[in-house]
Amino acid sequence: MSTIPAPFVVAIDGPSGSGKSSVSRAVARALGLAYVDTGATYRAATWWCLAQGVPLTDTDAVAAAVRTLPLDLGVDPDAPTVVVDGTDVSADIRETAISAAVSAVATNLEARAELGRRQRALIEAEREPGSFSGGRGVVAEGRDITTVIAPDADVRVLLTASEEARLARRALDVHGTADAQAVEATRDQVLRRDADDSTVVQFHTAADGVVTVDSSHLDFEQTVEAVLAVVTAASRA
Ligand code: C5P
Repeated sequence: MSTIPAPFVVAIDGPSGSGKSSVSRAVARALGLAYVDTGATYRAATWWCLAQGVPLTDTDAVAAAVRTLPLDLGVDPDAPTVVVDGTDVSADIRETAISAAVSAVATNLEARAELGRRQRALIEAEREPGSFSGGRGVVAEGRDITTVIAPDADVRVLLTASEEARLARRALDVHGTADAQAVEATRDQVLRRDADDSTVVQFHTAADGVVTVDSSHLDFEQTVEAVLAVVTAASRA
């Protein structure tokens, strides 16, 4: 385990299929940090709106529902959990129906503000000795962590990959194969969702001070090593 100061915050952004969730979890594990999956807060909010019968096109109703979201996000990188109103929705929020609908919540600016407050609170909590990480800190991943949620993070990484690589990875995740049919079936989820999300957050090019790691030609282990190398370089600086 490399030696890093405590508390330490790593922010990782990237598009769908860049591998940021699994890479962020592995980085958190390697560094002994907590893991905050901010995408899970948007997915949980979408699940909650649908469960409450809130039409996703009704901006005010969605914002109001999100303000009352009874969300409990587990930050253990080995077993991250998402509980809404006492129900474990960790698996349900990965369903295609949620992936297809989540941009409606993510492009709602009031909902973003509310979820952003909660994400910052989860990150800040990990600076405290009584937290999951014992005050060591956190790896937080999403679309606007390096720019909006934690612009002061000790390390900020944009994890990118070619469109081809991202489609193949997501197809493999969702369909268990990356053949032509599976890639086609994944296209809407990955590209349309990123196009919608891009209208409110910018996650395709690195902001000033953010290090780009392109994983197109790296396997999982190599990508984790590349991010850990950025952490090591930053903690030496
Ligand atoms: O990362 P994941 O695919 O689980 O994210 C689900 C959705 O949550 C994204 O498509 C995006 O709409 C939204 N999101 C966001 N800002 C973040 C993280 C996720 O808008 N920081």
